[in-house]
Amino acid sequence: MRSRDCKIVATLGPASDPPERMMMVLEAGVDCFRLNFSHGSKDAHALRVATIRAAEAKLGRPVAIIADLQGPKLRVGDFVNGAITLRYGETVRIEASDLLGEEGLIRMPHPEIVGTLEAGDVLKLDDGKMQLTLTEVDGPIKTARVDFGGTLKNRKGVNVPSRRIPISALTEQDKDHLAFALEQGVDFVALSFVQSAADIREARALIADRAGIIAKIEKPAALDELGEIIALSDAVMVARGDLGVELPPEQVPIAQRRIIRVARILGRPVIVATHMLESMIDAPTPTRAEASDVATAVYQGADAVMLSAESAVGRHPASAVAIMDRIIRAVENDPDHWANLERDAARPEHTTADAIAQSARTMAEVLDASKVVAYTATGSTALRVSRERPRCGIVGMTPRVETARRLCLAWGVRSVVTADAVDIEDMVTRAEACVRHLGAADTGDRIVITAGVPFGRPGKTNMIRVVRLE
Ligand code: PEP
Repeated sequence: MRSRDCKIVATLGPASDPPERMMMVLEAGVDCFRLNFSHGSKDAHALRVATIRAAEAKLGRPVAIIADLQGPKLRVGDFVNGAITLRYGETVRIEASDLLGEEGLIRMPHPEIVGTLEAGDVLKLDDGKMQLTLTEVDGPIKTARVDFGGTLKNRKGVNVPSRRIPISALTEQDKDHLAFALEQGVDFVALSFVQSAADIREARALIADRAGIIAKIEKPAALDELGEIIALSDAVMVARGDLGVELPPEQVPIAQRRIIRVARILGRPVIVATHMLESMIDAPTPTRAEASDVATAVYQGADAVMLSAESAVGRHPASAVAIMDRIIRAVENDPDHWANLERDAARPEHTTADAIAQSARTMAEVLDASKVVAYTATGSTALRVSRERPRCGIVGMTPRVETARRLCLAWGVRSVVTADAVDIEDMVTRAEACVRHLGAADTGDRIVITAGVPFGRPGKTNMIRVVRLE
């Protein structure tokens, strides 16, 4: 069976944490696990990392870990009775305070945002299930009308789509979680509520190259600086949960398409996330609309699709992964998919790496080669070949386990840890052994190898070699 190009990210939680469950989920096809730092203790995350690393060693293939930081998520405070009822048309007061709220009074522990609210601003509560519009602002006293009511419980999320939050994407708690996640050796850090390129620069100054940075696009403000944000990041996530609260629903598919397109042009892996197989939190099969949603992301050329609650707290985590795997494979077997990818292909930049990447794809197509094998130290060459979306797929051979893990997120790349080649003969021998071991090519098949001579120096890819397996 041909390998799958689009990758699967699954969020861990009680439904997938036990080691035997995690192994089932991995065997069903997960390439990358996400630890959601909005929930769970540090000890629970440390245990997850240890369990993933043990499973990875047992399976003999790299697995990437994403630490997803909560970011400056706005929340209402606690209420005297745990919740209040909001009724259509009634008036409520909003105050910046750490004290308890009560019927008719919502208190929020965020003076920086409450202070900026003006009449006409809309507040979406609990993922948009309830909505308020500010009607009057008299200094610190803000009055709002209930547009859609419901039961508002302690600490439910608040989105203010019309406002740039005047704080950085890294809160003090995020910085603490970040230091912990880096100690644990995670491969990627996902930044929530990124609003500007400055947010990525700030995170980069703290993270350097100890982990890849994933920019979660979930604020409309981020769409204004999309190109720069993605260019400064190592990967990007279409975080449709919060994006879907901040934007009207009809704008979300357009934003998704645009984010994927910009990420593909810049050659950064892009993950489409949230609600993909939502009904599988309970049901054993997805709705046909959900299957179509996953397929659309694959047709658009996404590098990865993601499960959230389905794998973290759902009743069928392994089945959700298996079904995602089947949907992806079905699309990748559709000839129209390849016509789509070709139509949306990004032009090469004027660099040696891109000249080699584009040539490797062309040669593989002309020769009907079984794989492009990319020797890659930092992962950069494999990513540039992945950007070309070669139909035969890519094997990324790297001496660094960190690189092999980060490539788990990249479209079409199977990564393998191997020592650097010492000369051209050794390069060919290792590549042949590797593709045979993966079952990706057999005697008589051709492979296209890219590498850098002299060997062992990152950033020096400068050669292509075609080899027929004997
Ligand atoms: C999202 O909002 O879609 C998302 C992935 O972020 P979180 O699950 O942290 O809200």
